[in-house]
Amino acid sequence: MSEQIITITIDGQEVKGTPGQTIMEVADSAGVYIPRLCFLKGLTPHGSCRVCVVNVNGRPQTSCTQPIANGMVVENDTEEIKQLRKDIIDMLFVEGNHYCQFCEKSGNCELQAVAYRLGITAPKYPYQFPNKEIDATHPDIFLDLNRCILCARCIQTSRDVDGKTVFEFVNRGPEKKISVNADAKLSDTNLDVTDKVVDSCPVGSILKKRVGFAVPIGKRIYDKEAIGSEIEKG
Ligand code: SF4
Repeated sequence: MSEQIITITIDGQEVKGTPGQTIMEVADSAGVYIPRLCFLKGLTPHGSCRVCVVNVNGRPQTSCTQPIANGMVVENDTEEIKQLRKDIIDMLFVEGNHYCQFCEKSGNCELQAVAYRLGITAPKYPYQFPNKEIDATHPDIFLDLNRCILCARCIQTSRDVDGKTVFEFVNRGPEKKISVNADAKLSDTNLDVTDKVVDSCPVGSILKKRVGFAVPIGKRIYDKEAIGSEIEKG
């Protein structure tokens, strides 16, 4: 029996997929980039960052979690959606302490790259300059909460890929933060520098020690090409 084909439109372009696929999956296959931050291939999508929100038949939905259905009309590239995404990114910048010019992740940072892609040069909200913790106790890895955007990729990767539970969320609302095995220190955990979680962070919150600036600024992933261009090139 042949597999059922589902047809949707994204910004007027006809895109095909199969039952169970999400809007983001079929968009990726069709070379249509939908910005995202908490989504990481191989992990269960949860749509918490809201950056991948699109209009589906006139209503906002997270494209990483929304399965496709025949006849869906998806809007991704509109001024309204773009402004929504810019507002989210602006808020992420002011809620943390992101000093891109001093950050080892600059040029490889997905938050910075999405901001550039959306044309953000400075956030429109006032900076909050919060006090955030740094944990440098592990011999090979830093944890710097100044840059954390609470995407949960480290929690999922440690648990679902590495088979450990090194990271977790604690507290709620503005006090919510990433913690390590119930407020222990990174050096108290079984985190290893070869664990996949170390490369899962979209920003510079989880970094390897002693490899800073091994690749010079100007030669990093998003210094060369805008984020999403790998999808658009197919
Ligand atoms: S430490 Fe990195 S991966 Fe973990 S929640 Fe913060 S930004 Fe996301």
